[in-house]
Amino acid sequence: MQLLLVEDDEMLSRALRTGLERDGYGVDVAADAPAARLALTDHGYAAVLLDLGLPGGSGLQVLRGVRDRYDTTPVLILTARDKLSDRIAGLDAGADDYLVKPFQPDELGARLRAVLRRAQGRVAPVLAVKAVRLDPARRSVTLRDEPVPLSVHEYRTLLALMERSGRVVTRHQLEEAVYGGDSTIESNTVAVYVHQLRRKLGDDLIVTVHGHGYRMGDAR
Ligand code: CA
Repeated sequence: MQLLLVEDDEMLSRALRTGLERDGYGVDVAADAPAARLALTDHGYAAVLLDLGLPGGSGLQVLRGVRDRYDTTPVLILTARDKLSDRIAGLDAGADDYLVKPFQPDELGARLRAVLRRAQGRVAPVLAVKAVRLDPARRSVTLRDEPVPLSVHEYRTLLALMERSGRVVTRHQLEEAVYGGDSTIESNTVAVYVHQLRRKLGDDLIVTVHGHGYRMGDAR
């Protein structure tokens, strides 16, 4: 199982990584917030161990970014901040558990196993429109039960459409969902992803509502 360890303290990071690898996990390390964001958009992880005080942004922002994409990867916060308000903010932002430094490696191991167990047993809502099913927990898409490989951007476009099934989704809403409001992106790229999705999933699945945007499923 592959984990992402987000920690800027090099000594702690090395010690945790060694311990986790000894327990049989694969470990990627990100030492600042931008590296963490990049790793999380490019890979799926079984769980994330997340420090809050990071260079280049806070761990809380990283966590909110993950949950804003409906990514349900378990997140375990590791932090020296033991104030109750920080713990509440972390849990409210979507963390699965919270461990205050310094902690014993055995406790980290046990909590990690607990969040992984819960994640495996979690019943995630699977979205379905016609013969297409999208499982947000696994980030997987099937057409008539056959897996359909999608790029990250295609997946996010499809997720945004399926979550609003039966309603028109504007280009702007899709751009927000795909790029998180990054204004430097050419606005016709969403049309490219829709085109790709039609090619992979069928022409009649996504309806163009001229002048407004796109819709999946029957109009409500
Ligand atoms: Ca730190």
